[in-house]
Amino acid sequence: MKKTKLIYEGKAKKLHETEDPDLLVVEFKDDMASLDGRKKGVIKNKGIVNSKISTYIFNFLDSYHIPSHFEKSLSDREILVKRLEMVPIEVIVRNIATGSLCDKYGCKEGDSLQYPIIEFYLKNDKLNDPMMNEYHAAAFGLATPEEMRTIVRFATKVNAILKSFFIRRKVRLVDFKLEFGRFKGQLYLGDEISPDTCRFWDLETGEQLDKDRFRKDMGRVEEAYQEMLRRVLNL
Ligand code: ADP
Ligand code: UDP
Repeated sequence: MKKTKLIYEGKAKKLHETEDPDLLVVEFKDDMASLDGRKKGVIKNKGIVNSKISTYIFNFLDSYHIPSHFEKSLSDREILVKRLEMVPIEVIVRNIATGSLCDKYGCKEGDSLQYPIIEFYLKNDKLNDPMMNEYHAAAFGLATPEEMRTIVRFATKVNAILKSFFIRRKVRLVDFKLEFGRFKGQLYLGDEISPDTCRFWDLETGEQLDKDRFRKDMGRVEEAYQEMLRRVLNL
């Protein structure tokens, strides 16, 4: 499938139109950004790792009947996807207390939560992604109550599936972010599932194998991403 026009360049990915109006090419960049874009860097081969991990996970989720935008892999850092009308909500699922959860609620860093937490944030960098709920989604016309119920159902199922997938790879799935979008009247899982959007802790040592290494200037970011790719592919 040929790329015809660059339609969006974000912090981590580029979106290209194709000859088919229903399909886009997602190109994963090596650029890294945090603090809503205020901190920037480049991690060698990150785009390749994120493209490969996302490909593997979208395929795996498909075998559990989770519909995603993923169509096929095109190259090392490009995938072909359905062109979704994105719901501008970041859906966060948490299994272990860390990050902004501890900042807000004062819970103890690293504690296992008795039940997974699902949170919603409005995807808007200028507003620093404010937290929101189903009522905001309906009131602002972002998603219907029925769509929000579907999103919660998919997010819960993705968490259950991926938690055990990663345990088998000796990794704790601490928390992660999902995005959804509409295509021909149905909701699909979009964007990416990678060390940029998930927190992964080694099951035995607790070593952080994700973007937190960049956020906290811990070093060995590239190595951590490569290690996650190796584990996901079960090499
Ligand atoms: P950001 O926009 O936060 O800088 P990225 O660099 O990852 O993030 O850009 C990817 C953009 O593409 C995001 O805005 C995301 O919502 C959007 N997106 C992801 N999957 C699809 C899809 N299948 N169709 C249309 N847009 C998508
Ligand atoms: N996350 C993400 N994009 C965002 C915000 C969060 O992918 O814009 C992911 C993040 O990598 C982590 C989870 O969502 O796996 C929860 O993040 P948290 O709310 O703790 O945010 P942070 O500590 O980054 O402010």
